[in-house]
Amino acid sequence: MKTNAFALRHIGPRPEDIAEMLKTVKADSIEQLINETFPDAIRLKEDLNLAPAMTEYEYLSHIQALGNKNKIFRSFIGLGYNEAVVPAAIIRNVFENPGWYTAYTPYQAEVAQGRLEALLNFQTTVIELSGMEIANASLLDESTAAAEAMILLFDVRTRDQKKNNVVKFFVSEEILPQTLSVLQTRATPFGVELVVGNHEEFDFSEEFFGAILQYPGKHGIVADYADFINQAKAKDIKVAVAADIMSLVLLTPPGEMGADVVVGTTQRFGIPLGFGGPHAAFFATKEEYKRSMPGRIIGVSKDADDNFALRMALQTREQHIKREKATSNICTAQVLLAVMASFYAVYHGPKGLTNIASLIHAKAVTVATELGKLGIEQLNANFFDTILVKADAAKVKPIAEANSINFNYIDANTISISLNETVELADINAIVNVFAQATGKTATEVTALSTEIKYQDKLKRTSKFLEHAVFNSYHSETELMRYIKKLERKDLALNHSMISLGSCTMKLNAAAEMLPLSNAQWNNVHPFVPADQAQGYLEMLHGLEEKLNVITGFAGTTLQPNSGAQGEYAGLMAIRAYHHSRGDFQRDIALIPASAHGTNPASAAMAGMKVVVTKTTPEGNIDVADLKAKAEQYKDNLSCLMVTYPSTHGVYESAIMEITQIIHDNGGQVYMDGANMNAQVAITNPANIGADVCHLNLHKTFAIPHGGGGPGVGPICVAEHLVPFLPTNPIVKVGGEKGITAISAAPYGSALVCLISYGYIAMLGTEGLKKVTQQAILNANYMKSRLEEHYSILYTGEKGRAAHEMIVDVREFKEKGIEVTDIAKRLIDYGFHAPTVSFPVAGTLMIEPTESESKEELDRFCDAMASIRQEIENATIENPVNELKNAPHTLALLTADNWDLPYSRQKAAYPLPYVAENKLWPTVRRIDDAYGDRNLICSCAPIEAYLEN
Ligand SMILES: *Cc1c(COP(=O)(O)O)cnc(C)c1O
Repeated sequence: MKTNAFALRHIGPRPEDIAEMLKTVKADSIEQLINETFPDAIRLKEDLNLAPAMTEYEYLSHIQALGNKNKIFRSFIGLGYNEAVVPAAIIRNVFENPGWYTAYTPYQAEVAQGRLEALLNFQTTVIELSGMEIANASLLDESTAAAEAMILLFDVRTRDQKKNNVVKFFVSEEILPQTLSVLQTRATPFGVELVVGNHEEFDFSEEFFGAILQYPGKHGIVADYADFINQAKAKDIKVAVAADIMSLVLLTPPGEMGADVVVGTTQRFGIPLGFGGPHAAFFATKEEYKRSMPGRIIGVSKDADDNFALRMALQTREQHIKREKATSNICTAQVLLAVMASFYAVYHGPKGLTNIASLIHAKAVTVATELGKLGIEQLNANFFDTILVKADAAKVKPIAEANSINFNYIDANTISISLNETVELADINAIVNVFAQATGKTATEVTALSTEIKYQDKLKRTSKFLEHAVFNSYHSETELMRYIKKLERKDLALNHSMISLGSCTMKLNAAAEMLPLSNAQWNNVHPFVPADQAQGYLEMLHGLEEKLNVITGFAGTTLQPNSGAQGEYAGLMAIRAYHHSRGDFQRDIALIPASAHGTNPASAAMAGMKVVVTKTTPEGNIDVADLKAKAEQYKDNLSCLMVTYPSTHGVYESAIMEITQIIHDNGGQVYMDGANMNAQVAITNPANIGADVCHLNLHKTFAIPHGGGGPGVGPICVAEHLVPFLPTNPIVKVGGEKGITAISAAPYGSALVCLISYGYIAMLGTEGLKKVTQQAILNANYMKSRLEEHYSILYTGEKGRAAHEMIVDVREFKEKGIEVTDIAKRLIDYGFHAPTVSFPVAGTLMIEPTESESKEELDRFCDAMASIRQEIENATIENPVNELKNAPHTLALLTADNWDLPYSRQKAAYPLPYVAENKLWPTVRRIDDAYGDRNLICSCAPIEAYLEN
């Protein structure tokens, strides 16, 4: 391997460490270890057929050249995507900062107070702008958020509605086309009947459970929905509104009109277009629906010293607990983008936002006025940022494109133009000139913006918003930079230490993979531009699909799903469509092993399937006899098996091929959950083990950073017979011939971050990818060898080897009064984020080091675990005051004048020498979860709320 090979940067242990690690695991060579780990039958016979690895330097030139194939036009297309000014301070301090983008979902709240605060700011922004009572901390995109709203309203139907089987849902024809498509996908399996129409002609005498409106409408019309909502209420019809968050700065919020749910995207709050994503969607509703709300909610609680502390609230709502009874499967969301949008609101504050929104409106009014002077007829009298005009598209389009301008061409005679924050007078003149040329007239130069208001007086927002100090304090760059740093310092991310979360694969997110994301050639492309303007993107995305086909052994890939769970859902919907295409409408049983991730049963339920749980043997494997019996029992109705491989227990089950055969013999399809793909790449693959479809978590195996809980990309790769069913998009042609309707709003999902995985594969190449898998397995087995001196490790392969992760059983320490949480929190004192807690086995820790961690770091973690084991030894159930129960220790506790704990401050804070050198101070002590759920507060205003009780 060349000394400048990227693999040598990506992989942690140095070549000279490897010999020693092999000695520890008692293997003569990496090959021997791999032979003892993988059942022979499943191994690939040949190397992957991929291009040779590029160096970082070569890759950066390559990706620049590819980016230059994207044509950067001024896009006034709108349809849910509007260019925004991304504040440079937020790009540099958040978007490009590993302190923010490499963090994990804030499960360990004591070392996540920074991003929790940013997310609370996000929720506050959403709550106040939408006029609702509660909001979550982001969803995947506006269209899926709208679908979640529909399902929530379906779920909370009154008893009468359920009894009378009221299944109709009204969709305003003003809804965005991609949202309608996603609503169709989600409605079908539940038997929800969509009725699309004009809200003004809605017949309130019919029985509907809910309705969704778009505000402003897809072509810019601003309508007053108060009357519709009032009439709907009287008929027990719940109303959701998909709203443009920027417009809500100026317009009466839907909450004040009585809406039950408000959803939308926060993309135009300072997030790049990125050819469709990632962007954070929002979801706001009423307090009474809090238990049905999808996604994560950040709530206020207190720590062991009664200090203010934040955490994820009401987690029992989530699919991890509710499984097939869950109505939503959201796990990974869009945290990094929500954090960026929140800082945009913090930076601009209410005055700044009002100014931005007013200017956007003024630009739209100006364009409307000037086009009027040219005799062009405008079709929407009331608007915020989008004007709808009558004009000959065939004439306008070539002139516009010659001037590098995109409009939205609705039909031969109708065009819409959406204005945004970035528009300057020069753009306005350019737009007007296009129409002047097309109509053979001359325009006069525009030198000032109009001051007229073109939305109804009664829709003028009167309520104040964002009055809390946080939105009124950080308006200079120095102040913002320090606020961002203050929050960043509270959090543990990969730039501090290993985050060994089993199943989550927290590996290096290399700088060379990330750099191109900041380039305008990549981040400034609207998802609905004509294909000839996105050649760089299409080449990159199709190249990535091709590489993923090679890696999985499958025939086709869609990049549309925005998370692993969405991938599961997409895969199951493709399976469903396949069965239906063969007349097998009755096939709706999904077999799922008991150890499956909570998203599996939740996704199956969303796809309209009935979940049948199969047993696990005491060794942690699928109970083949039980599986066979159930497959045969349901052979007429079997839809599929969902199986994680290697299993969630970190083992390559040797029976896997027999298992997939049993399913096929009984008419079912095999869905492989690819979260553990890091233990397969280049050595085996899903096609090889007999699966028909799998999702991959590009944010686990393929180096997209977790972003503190998103973005994610969850493509599905499918065998030949499922390719025709891959999801489509109503605006851009993607997907299969008989493709299902859309899974996500954007045709290629979160296209911008796909660059990261594309770069990862390009720079590793065939040889590097294989080395990565081997090293991931060696790192795990090395830790296993070291940890098994102190702890028992649950489940291993037949030859005693772990795969890429292992489960450490700590349940026996209950007799000393020590719970798994105590160990998780004590690890914080040692400078580490806890491994995965209580998944897949309650009361255990699941550790996955990944290939990127060096031997030194693995040793530090093992030393910490060994030291904790000693502390456990000294603990007693009679006297539960010890360093484990009190963990984590804050600086405030340790420097207080009083210290009456039965161990030293030194022992509490610096339990091992390496800690002192690089101490991360948690800013709060152990957080009270129950208190937070009992007293749910999920916005940061008003401050007095915190002072009660
Ligand atoms: C992470 C994970 C998922 C869900 O992926 P998201 O991207 O968070 O939706 C599903 N299954 C397993 C086994 C996982 O580890």
